[in-house]
Amino acid sequence: MSATARDLLGDIDFDPAELHSKYMNERDKRIRPDGNEQYVEIAERFASFGDDPWVDHTFTRDPLTDHVDVVIVGGGFGGLLAAAKLREAGVERIRLIDSAGDVGGTWYWNRYPGAACDVQSYIYLPLLEELGAMPQHKYSFAPEIMEHSRRIARHYNLYEDACFQTGVTSMEWDEENSRWTIFTDRSDEMTASIVVLATGPLNRPKLPGIKGISSFGGHMFHTSRWDYDYTGGDTYGGLSGLADKRVAIIGTGATAVQCIPHLADSAKELFVFQRTPSSVDVRDNAPTDTEWFSSLEPGWQKRYMENFTALVSGYDEPEDLIGDGWTEIFRGLTGIAAKDASRRLGRRLEPQEKEEMMELLDYRKMNGVRNRVTTTVVDPSTASALQPWYRQFCKRPCFHDSYLPAFNSPSVTLVDTNGKGVEEITERGIVVDGVEYEVDCIVFSTGFEYGTSYTRRAGFDITGRNGQTLSEHWADGARTLHGMQSHGFPNMGFIGLIQTATTVNIPHALAEQAAHFAHIVSESKVRNASVIEATPQAEEEWLAEIERTAVRARKFYEECTPGYYNNEGHVTDDGGFAAGMYGAGPIKFFALLAQWREEGRLAGLELK
Ligand code: NDP
Repeated sequence: MSATARDLLGDIDFDPAELHSKYMNERDKRIRPDGNEQYVEIAERFASFGDDPWVDHTFTRDPLTDHVDVVIVGGGFGGLLAAAKLREAGVERIRLIDSAGDVGGTWYWNRYPGAACDVQSYIYLPLLEELGAMPQHKYSFAPEIMEHSRRIARHYNLYEDACFQTGVTSMEWDEENSRWTIFTDRSDEMTASIVVLATGPLNRPKLPGIKGISSFGGHMFHTSRWDYDYTGGDTYGGLSGLADKRVAIIGTGATAVQCIPHLADSAKELFVFQRTPSSVDVRDNAPTDTEWFSSLEPGWQKRYMENFTALVSGYDEPEDLIGDGWTEIFRGLTGIAAKDASRRLGRRLEPQEKEEMMELLDYRKMNGVRNRVTTTVVDPSTASALQPWYRQFCKRPCFHDSYLPAFNSPSVTLVDTNGKGVEEITERGIVVDGVEYEVDCIVFSTGFEYGTSYTRRAGFDITGRNGQTLSEHWADGARTLHGMQSHGFPNMGFIGLIQTATTVNIPHALAEQAAHFAHIVSESKVRNASVIEATPQAEEEWLAEIERTAVRARKFYEECTPGYYNNEGHVTDDGGFAAGMYGAGPIKFFALLAQWREEGRLAGLELK
């Protein structure tokens, strides 16, 4: 460790080498050869884990064979934003299709107790100014976010043509008529001039491949399909059905952190099965200050979103308009801290010095997170097991004020699996270290597929020009222009996290993409074109740009404890969560799109 890095930090009350070795130890315990293959797909005998608890399954309707201007697959924020922007651009018939019974996307499915956003609602909920809406809290609870999604759908008149409880099964490009034919599991054979795919990045729940999982005789469900018929209560808690139940929850990620306090309050006994502890920092939720909210000047939401995205991208903004746990972490652990150090040194930091300083700052930050555990959780061995030993960005940081105190309840037992995970599920319960914990119910808080193929997660394949399917075209990875259009798939827009740049505030990235795609659609109208398609050369150039900007964070991710951020420990050259994305970050990406629009050439697109 160089003297500069140490000098910059002042007093260091920890031994970096000792911490590094502890981190490596904890990572090594968790690395397993099967990586992503350890999980079980929710299909075949596990298909019922994906059933929709919120709809009338007897619902029927006649198949549709009509034509609309735009079909949007996915009614979450991505689909809603695309629809809103296309509506503003004058598109008339817009049809949202979703397998869910309503709009809302992730907020439709995730209604588990305690569900709430943990990016501030003032920047997380899209179109607040357009709709004249005010979030009730700094961090909105799920029902409000769901209601906001409905409000967007009503405001932009999206219910009229929407098809819910409808799963797309395939799509085919109709060369003769320059349009798409969309087939669904309700025997629809509808057509659309344009299709937008907004199917979401974390939309397919996954189960752990634990031996004996099918033999359990009690009740089981995944957090994204919460069974309130069984537990009683609602998203706000009061799970009265659990008063006489021994409940197990497997997983301690961002979802579990939010629902465990409610399970702890309601269950007769709660067993929390932990493989890796989350880093849980201060949340500090509060009702919205109405006076402050009404004082905001027009254009405020965009300004706040941009300020947050700049800060979490490591830009040194003159002010922090959000001032929460996210911006605190990013101000402390990114280029902002490096710039501050350079100012103090009076020169630029050498790359090595910068890396070392970041590492020291990370240890210090995580020591704070670990201290929060020991000062909150009374039982020393439980507190010790709840401490996370990895760098802050190895896993998604969590923010909660009731999670750690829940472990002080006499009815809650933390079953730490020492990084190994649950050993076996039996007819009566769960086995760890040879001990069987008898339970009535198992809640799987084991997350969602990430890193599986696009078409698998979307649930269908697409046949483009000349009979080529999207899975064939993307066999070696996605190929797009700006992550939004692909050659051979005319009049199709992708909204999501493919070959784009994202930010912690994902709705911000979705809003930029939606506005960009709507611009392309309206420009094509102005130019009397009925076909818009990315050229092969534009695809190649964008691939080269992705390669050029790739975040080479291999070492960082290799030293991380496994999870979906680092492909379960099987790290590729271009890193983890951001692999295959535009690595120069969202601020540059949004500017690049704006400049592309400004130039007015629709460069890289062929219009006919
Ligand atoms: P995660 O993938 O983050 O967590 C899954 C959990 O299951 C991990 O703790 C994992 O342990 C554990 N697990 C997996 N297999 C086993 C096993 N065999 N035995 C024991 N434990 C096991 O899923 P979440 O649903 O918690 O979160 C997914 C994402 O959803 C978040 O990262 C976030 O992006 C989003 N989210 C956002 C929220 C918001 O406020 N906006 C709230 C909630 C979620 P291990 O870590 O060892 O793999």
